[in-house]
Amino acid sequence: MSGSVDLQEARNIVIIGGGIIGCTTAYYLTRHPYFSSQTSITVIEASEYGPAQGASGKAGGLVARWAYPKELVDVSFDEHVKLAAEHNGGDRWGWRYVDCGRWEGRGQNLLNRKDSGSGVGEGGKKKSLEKTLGLDEKKKSRKKTGLPDDLMWVEEELTDSYTPMAGDKETAQVHPYLFTTSMWDLASAKGAVLLKGKVTSIQKTDGRVTGVDYVEGGTHEAMRLSATHVVLAAGAWSSSLLPSLPITGTRAHSVTIRPKPTVDISPYVLFTEISLPLSASQRRTVDPEIYARPDGEVYACGPGDDSPLPATVDGVIVDESACNSVYMHASSISQALRQGTVEKRQACFLPSVSVGGGPIIGDARHIAKGLVIATGHTCWGISNAPGTARVLCEIIMDGTARSVNLRKMQPSIFV
Ligand SMILES: Cc1cc2nc3c(=O)[nH]c(=O)nc-3n(C[C@H](O)[C@H](O)[C@H](O)COP(=O)(O)OP(=O)(O)OC[C@H]3O[C@@H](n4cnc5c(N)ncnc54)[C@H](O)[C@@H]3O)c2cc1C
Repeated sequence: MSGSVDLQEARNIVIIGGGIIGCTTAYYLTRHPYFSSQTSITVIEASEYGPAQGASGKAGGLVARWAYPKELVDVSFDEHVKLAAEHNGGDRWGWRYVDCGRWEGRGQNLLNRKDSGSGVGEGGKKKSLEKTLGLDEKKKSRKKTGLPDDLMWVEEELTDSYTPMAGDKETAQVHPYLFTTSMWDLASAKGAVLLKGKVTSIQKTDGRVTGVDYVEGGTHEAMRLSATHVVLAAGAWSSSLLPSLPITGTRAHSVTIRPKPTVDISPYVLFTEISLPLSASQRRTVDPEIYARPDGEVYACGPGDDSPLPATVDGVIVDESACNSVYMHASSISQALRQGTVEKRQACFLPSVSVGGGPIIGDARHIAKGLVIATGHTCWGISNAPGTARVLCEIIMDGTARSVNLRKMQPSIFV
């Protein structure tokens, strides 16, 4: 696809996966100057409930200039700002700037339970979500406890230290489910089509993609859909369609909490390190991420684990006790959360790159002409979706990646 491209050619684009990467790509394609009645865009999603049922609907939603990789972040953050301005993202998907900090202190032992759990799902081994790897250490400044005056939903007497993690307007947030479904709604309003079904293979002839085979949701009938371009954006499931892709899934549990309506939940995202008493002599350190959201909801997620990936997103097992632990850990530092109600208990799979690095983004013509890959966004897929989508759109519509230097993300490095 690089170099020469026939601008008038009919493009029959099939996107595998209705997560944030697939839906945002569909959106950018419908906004491209060459998008016309000659362009067809189909998103195939395996969940019977439609888009955003995986990590893209269950993530925290942090959008950061200090995320990684930098080449992608630099484009993605500004694209998020533009999208929010153009489509009233504040109201539509909870876009806003937030303060973000590292909170360290002691938690209260809730309900006098001896073991508050680790937040890891049953049978799984703990894995880090690695979100703070992108931080510039120089930006940290340690005051006395440093707890901001308006962060009143966390208890001051339990706080040892609060350290701001980034400067002004360097961190923002979206509600990831609302962002993803809004991208989809906007793409669909311009003619993109959603097909519920599970892709079973990518078809190619003479070194070029020709379409995909899939099992239709509901009827379970085997079907074939032709394509000039196939975008593989199946998150943690991507390697089930291309086994040489080094993608694995890391499961993580999360909860959403509705605090008492009288409590003002100021806009902070906290990366915590909480020392919890288990007995007179024993303590456990837990580190939930806690996100205030504009509608007053609070989201908290625990660590990852190595539970095996189910056949589809609808088969993800939610371990209730892991969710209860995440809630107990988060609410151990906040009376507002202790008095609140847990609304959602959920789990999802983050797409990780098993050989390190990533995401994997770009033209995969070395496998088949017309194949484009976008997966392995690890803990930054919400933040990096717009840059990813924009550059995929350039590859498909213009024949070359222009806005992001994909050198380190090229599929040919990984596959
Ligand atoms: C607990 C947690 C918190 C996170 N917090 C943040 C955050 O604050 N900020 C941030 O930037 N990122 C965050 N992330 C990471 C982010 O959620 C992911 O990187 C991102 O959602 C990946 O998007 P995706 O579209 O690649 O994958 P997914 O959301 O998994 O979507 C892939 C879709 O493909 C579909 N699919 C799979 N196989 C097939 C098939 N064969 N046929 C058809 N459809 C198929 C799936 O059903 C799924 O809907 C977090 C992740 C976790 C787990």
